[in-house]
Amino acid sequence: MSHTTPPTAIDPRHLAQQADTLSGSAPLSAFARVSEGLPALDAELAPVRWSARAEWRQASGAAEPELWLWLGLDAEVPQTCQRCLRPYVQPVEAERWFRFVATEEIALAEDDDSEEDLLVLDPRLDLLALVEDELLLELPLVPMHDQCPEPPRMSAGELPEAEPQEQPHPFAALAALKGRADKT
Ligand SMILES: [Zn+2]
Repeated sequence: MSHTTPPTAIDPRHLAQQADTLSGSAPLSAFARVSEGLPALDAELAPVRWSARAEWRQASGAAEPELWLWLGLDAEVPQTCQRCLRPYVQPVEAERWFRFVATEEIALAEDDDSEEDLLVLDPRLDLLALVEDELLLELPLVPMHDQCPEPPRMSAGELPEAEPQEQPHPFAALAALKGRADKT
């Protein structure tokens, strides 16, 4: 399969009309915010594989059908184990439903009551950014081997100052989500 980076402008309404799944794969380096500052690893990484589809749904009691978007992805992301401080490959898998709303006000008002994530409808939805947000959200807060290959190199008393995580904090990704909604 040839690599297809998620497009930076899709019309979700158009995608729903096509009733088709949009998918592709791209090297992790195509996702600048995720790949920044990752530990170097000799291992060959699987590409980021993503797919998206959209559909209209008529909720009971709703005046008009609502537009939903499904996003799925899997990837391998190098992380530094916080226990033994060695790099390792973190598999990431996610899928999520988003519901589109007309305005930021509606998104804010309904957010707490909604299990799904809300997005303000943008006829030029940045799917690349959305995939990137998901990747960031799915990375562990404290990356760690399931089982470290070797015991930690230092005793607890000699641990260096906690290294600041190089990756953006997941809340930064959330803020980016909100920020994108603000643009419309
Ligand atoms: Zn470890």
